[in-house]
Amino acid sequence: MSKNSKDIIIIGAGLGGLITGALLSKEGFKVEVLEKNKQIGGCLQGFALDGKLFESAVHYVGSLSPNQTLYKIFKYLGIIDQLDLQALDAGCFDKIVIQDEEFELAQGHENFIESLSIKFPTQYQIIRNYVDGINHVCKRFPLYNIQHGSEGEKQKVLSQALQEMFIQFGADDKLQQVLTGNNMLYAGSLEQNPFYIHALIQNSYIEGSYKFKNGSAQLANLLRNVIQQQGGKVKRNTEIKKLVEIDGKIQHAIDQHGERHEASHFISNLHPQVTYAILDSKLIRPIARKRIATLPNTISSFLLNISLKPGIVPYRNHNIYYHLHNNTWHDITSKATLQPGSFGIFFTEDKTLAGFATSISVLTYMDASATALWDNSFHTTGLNTRLDREYLEFKETQSAYILSKIKDIIPEIQNAISQTDACTPLSYRDYLHSPGGSMYGIQKEIQTLSQSSFATRTKIPNLYLTGQNINLHGVLGVCITGILNTSDFCGLEYMVNKINSAQ
Ligand SMILES: Cc1cc2nc3c(=O)[nH]c(=O)nc-3n(C[C@H](O)[C@H](O)[C@H](O)COP(=O)(O)OP(=O)(O)OC[C@H]3O[C@@H](n4cnc5c(N)ncnc54)[C@H](O)[C@@H]3O)c2cc1C
Repeated sequence: MSKNSKDIIIIGAGLGGLITGALLSKEGFKVEVLEKNKQIGGCLQGFALDGKLFESAVHYVGSLSPNQTLYKIFKYLGIIDQLDLQALDAGCFDKIVIQDEEFELAQGHENFIESLSIKFPTQYQIIRNYVDGINHVCKRFPLYNIQHGSEGEKQKVLSQALQEMFIQFGADDKLQQVLTGNNMLYAGSLEQNPFYIHALIQNSYIEGSYKFKNGSAQLANLLRNVIQQQGGKVKRNTEIKKLVEIDGKIQHAIDQHGERHEASHFISNLHPQVTYAILDSKLIRPIARKRIATLPNTISSFLLNISLKPGIVPYRNHNIYYHLHNNTWHDITSKATLQPGSFGIFFTEDKTLAGFATSISVLTYMDASATALWDNSFHTTGLNTRLDREYLEFKETQSAYILSKIKDIIPEIQNAISQTDACTPLSYRDYLHSPGGSMYGIQKEIQTLSQSSFATRTKIPNLYLTGQNINLHGVLGVCITGILNTSDFCGLEYMVNKINSAQ
C-alpha cells in the first residue's frame, strides 16, 4: 500500500528529527515524522517512578539565556515562552568534587574566572587564557553563534587535542582535572578528544545553564506542536526497517508492517550506522558501508534514578560531578564501569517542599560489554523480554554500589530512599537504537576526525542526515544541526537572517 506523497519524511522523532521538522514546517514544507517508539523525543523522553517524573538522559542545557543561541532558535520557533525552565545557580552550575576537595564552576565568563581563581590563585592568568581559548574556538563556529561564515574558519581549531591545549595554557594537573571534571558531557579521552568539542559545550553552560522544570519531554511536545500547527504529522509506533533507493533516489521507506511511506525527500534522525544498515542501495559502496559500520562509538552509561522521601535531602540548584580518584578520566580510560569512580549527580526540587529534593539521578559511564550477557533480550514500553532475574540482580548490585559511594557527599540519602530504578546500556540501545547504547554516538577523535564526520547531505541526493552524529551532540549541538538541515532546502544566509530577526 502506498501513502500520499509528502514533501519530506523524517525518520525518528528524537530532538534532531523534531527540531528539523519544526524548522522546515515553518518554511512551509509538508513534513511527516515517523517514530518507532510509543513516546516521541528520543533522549528527551521521561518516565514515571514512584509517581514522579524522571529524565532518561537530558538533565540540563546551556546557551539558553536571552539572546544566546538556543534561546534564539526557540524564540524563532515561538516556543521560548512556553518552556518551563529553571536557571541553575549563577555562582555554580557544576560542582566538581575530586576526592574531598570541591570546586565550583560559575556562570558568566568573568564569574567563572574569578570564582575558580580563588581555589587556584597562582593560576589566575592561566584560567583567563583558558576562557579566552574557549571563546576563540567558539567564534570560529559561525552557526554556534547564529552567524554565517566560511567553513575555513573552523579548520584551524579542529585538530587541537584537549590535552595539548591544556599544556599550551599551562594548567597544572589539578586545574586540568577540574576543568574537565564534567567530561561526562562529551565522553571522550583527554589525549584524543578534540578541544573544540569541550570548548563548545563548556562555553554553552558557562553562558547560561538551565534545567527543564517539568521534564525535557516538554521540548519534544512543543516542537511536535509546531509541526502539527503547520499541517505536518508526527506518527508514533512506526519503525522504519528499510530505505529503498531506485534510480538514484530514495523512493520510499518501509515500516515494520511492510507499509510504504513515500516522499520527495528523506531525513534520517537515526545513528548513521543504523541509517546505512537499512539503506537498500547499490550507490553506497561496500567499502564505505564497512567504514561506517566499524566507526567506534562513545561509551554508554548506567543511570540510577532515586525517588526520595520528602523533606530529607536538601535540594542543590547545581549538578555535582563526584570523583573518587584524582583523575577525572579514570573510568573512560580504565573502562572500570562495574565499579565506577565518577558520578554525575542531578537533583530535582520538590514542588511542594521548596528547598528539598524530590529525586536524584546518578549517571556513570558503563561500557556495553558490562551487559553483554543480555544482548539478545529487548525491552521498551511495548515489549519486554528482559525479565531475567540475574539482570535485575545486576541492576540492584550496581545501584547499591553507587549509593554506597554517593552517601559520602549526600549523607542524608541513607534514610531518604523511597524507590530506585536504573537505565543500562541495553535501555539506551533498545529505546534509541543507538549502537551499544552509546551516549553521544560516533566517537570524535583528533586522529580520525575526517572519517568520523558526517555532513547533512549524503551521496543520495534526496537523503539527508540529522541528529547528534552530525557536527555536535547535546541539545544545543543537535538544534544547530537542525538549522543546517533546513539550510539544505532554504539556504543558510536566509535561515540565519530569519532566526536573528525573530521578534
Ligand atoms: C545518558 C545521557 C545523558 C545526556 N545528558 C544530556 C544533557 O544533560 N544535556 C544535553 O544537552 N544533552 C545530553 N545528552 C545528549 C543529548 O540527549 C543527545 O545528543 C540528543 O538528545 C540526541 O538527539 P538525536 O535526535 O540525535 O537522537 P535520539 O534522541 O537518539 O533520537 C533518535 C530517535 O530515532 C528513533 N528511531 C530509531 N530508530 C528508528 C527507526 N528505525 N524508525 C523510526 N524511529 C527510529 C528513536 O526511537 C529516537 O526517538 C545526553 C545523552 C545521554 C544518552
